[in-house]
Amino acid sequence: MQRGIVVDQFLETNVPDVYAIGDCSQQNKPLPGRRPVEAVWYTGRMMGEVVAHNICGQKVAYDPGIWFNSAKFIDIEYQVYGTVLAKPPENHQSLYWEHADGRKGVRIIYDKDDDAILGFNLMGVRYRHEVCEAWIKGKTPITEVLQNLGLANFDPEFYDEYEADIVQKYNQVSGRNIQLKQKRNFSSAIRFLRKAVNV
Ligand SMILES: Cc1cc2nc3c(=O)[nH]c(=O)nc-3n(C[C@H](O)[C@H](O)[C@H](O)COP(=O)(O)OP(=O)(O)OC[C@H]3O[C@@H](n4cnc5c(N)ncnc54)[C@H](O)[C@@H]3O)c2cc1C
Repeated sequence: MQRGIVVDQFLETNVPDVYAIGDCSQQNKPLPGRRPVEAVWYTGRMMGEVVAHNICGQKVAYDPGIWFNSAKFIDIEYQVYGTVLAKPPENHQSLYWEHADGRKGVRIIYDKDDDAILGFNLMGVRYRHEVCEAWIKGKTPITEVLQNLGLANFDPEFYDEYEADIVQKYNQVSGRNIQLKQKRNFSSAIRFLRKAVNV
């Protein structure tokens, strides 16, 4: 043991056939950009699937994919998708929009050099995980993401929409003139996701 029970990429300890998963486990060689202990619910679930394969004799390495987390503490809603660093490197450009009430904020990180989307941080606004993940995986340019931002909206229908305000903020700071194409629409989000995963 160190901070947790140390496991390899197959979630096996140094004792053969003994595995550890979830909050108590610690990766001996964490993947680039990831921490050795990631005590969140979804990594625990993924580790559960991986360890099931391994104890059934199919060697599968643990790969948690693109980082995400979401939380709801009383009335505070928070999500992060992808890479949003407290100390960002030179090439990480950040677009930040905050509602006038100071209770909702959206930060979008993209690559300064090629505009590829890198991450989202959301407070008080809810976006669809699958849509944000597909954009990050696809290295989608910030302009395309903003034009289609409505696809990501996951707030209940009676909530206000802020996509147009966020696009306006981007146009202000970038000097570009992006138009919002997609308003919140469940069926277009499903069509987008089916296209993204080829079904
Ligand atoms: C306040 C709080 C908020 C959180 N919010 C989020 C969130 O918003 N999103 C998110 O992804 N994650 C969140 N987490 C983290 C998430 O809950 C954990 O990552 C997840 O529950 C870990 O699952 P686990 O099965 O590894 O461990 P646990 O859920 O801790 O399960 C371990 C179990 O083992 C039992 N146990 C302990 N010792 C023994 C023993 N000697 N014998 C038998 N049983 C034993 C315990 O009673 C427990 O039931 C939050 C955690 C806390 C505490």
